Amino acid sequence: MPNKKQTIESLLEKVKTYTKKADLDIIRLAYDFADNAHNGQTRKSGEPYIVHPLATAHFLADMRIDPVILTAALLHDVPEDTDVTLDEIEKNFGSEIASLVQGITKLGKLKYRGVERYIENLRKMFVAMAEDVRVMIIKFADRIHNLTTLGALPPQKQYRIALESLEIYAPIANRLGIGEIKGILEDLSFEYVYPKEYQRVKQIRDEKLKGKDEFLRQIQEDIKNELLNTGIKTVSIDGRNKRLYSLYQKLQRKDHDITQVYDLVAIRIIVPTIADCYASLGILHKHWRPLKGRIKDYISQPKPNGYQSLHTTVFSDNGEIIEFQIRTPEMHDDAEYGVAAHWHYDEHCSKRPAREITWIKELAEIQKDILNKLSDLEEIKIDFLQNRIFVFTPKGDVIDLPEGATPVDFAYHIHTDIGDKCNGARINEQMASLDTELKNGDVIEIVIDKNRKGPSQDWLNFIKTHTAKTHVTNYLKDKQKGKIADWFKYVLPKK
Ligand code: MN
Repeated sequence: MPNKKQTIESLLEKVKTYTKKADLDIIRLAYDFADNAHNGQTRKSGEPYIVHPLATAHFLADMRIDPVILTAALLHDVPEDTDVTLDEIEKNFGSEIASLVQGITKLGKLKYRGVERYIENLRKMFVAMAEDVRVMIIKFADRIHNLTTLGALPPQKQYRIALESLEIYAPIANRLGIGEIKGILEDLSFEYVYPKEYQRVKQIRDEKLKGKDEFLRQIQEDIKNELLNTGIKTVSIDGRNKRLYSLYQKLQRKDHDITQVYDLVAIRIIVPTIADCYASLGILHKHWRPLKGRIKDYISQPKPNGYQSLHTTVFSDNGEIIEFQIRTPEMHDDAEYGVAAHWHYDEHCSKRPAREITWIKELAEIQKDILNKLSDLEEIKIDFLQNRIFVFTPKGDVIDLPEGATPVDFAYHIHTDIGDKCNGARINEQMASLDTELKNGDVIEIVIDKNRKGPSQDWLNFIKTHTAKTHVTNYLKDKQKGKIADWFKYVLPKK
């Protein structure tokens, strides 16, 4: 990271390139204020402390994020690490910036150790997100700079910070739809959490990509011309290497066989409209044969985090297999920035309305209750941090569940009674056992037994969602109580 070149001057220059509306004086004032407050403090690397908030702000400026967020980023460590108080920040910078800084400060202080610390941290982040998701955007930028400077810390601490980034921060970024930040967090932590695997995957990727540059450049050139011939003016075409952690995960799913990975390089085509997206897909398929079963229409069926694009994998002229991703500038902006897209300035599309993220609300509602119970940690990770799948009811209603969910989770998601009375399931019209793992796109029909008394204890061995587990455990507890009550009735003398 070229920290030494990052100055307040270059920060202001960056901001000017994407918005004319920024209050540059306030940004400069925040820098001077923070520089003053942190005066004499150093980072573990020996550099003056101000390098860190400045780098955090630079990262956000590189992402073309709203200057208000950037200003708060410059001040983010002031109340926690210096004598300057939040009141003074409010007096100088107003309540909006002060409240963002306060949000970050609240995240900072962790009391516990071990698993309790992990949970406390999760709970704090969920609360912060529910209150103002901008706090998380600053926190991500803060964490990314800390990850790039991990080298200065003792190995134990490196590992802890990297693991937490990989297991908490990256999945949250993913659920917020901020693909860009998720990818950066994963790759930076990967190296520290699984150093051997990191080196191995890096070597596999580099070998596979060696000498392909010219070929990929040529393909992009050809497509651009081909599309232009049919009247489609591309906004941009670029080839992107698959990120290392994402490649690592895919290799694990594909028995470590790199030839089974088709999106090592994906070529992204950005065209002005949705009609252009479908037209471009047609043109690609006219020239190159698509691989069976690899055409995905995430425009008409977006992924649960809102991701939209057309994907296809084709055999190119020299037999090389290439993945294409076709989308509009708005879809691209959403894919990279997710909820942050609302505070992101893009040259090709205007600012988005703030996206409603219902799971943040769900989370705020239940967090008080379950986050305090240790045994629920795995459930929380599954319910809120894991990837989601889409499945369908026979009527075509879409149900969003965590990966690994079963027909029983599905049944409880529809209705408690359906869960309690569920006796079997048909998945895509085939009878399936209740512990079958559901897959994206499955159509599920629950078979009900009206005479069934209630859920069975064994279900606890395979159900995944908090809703299903709560219902089953509560039922079993009540049943237990009922039994005891019956027993008392029996042994107590009648009056
Ligand atoms: Mn910080």
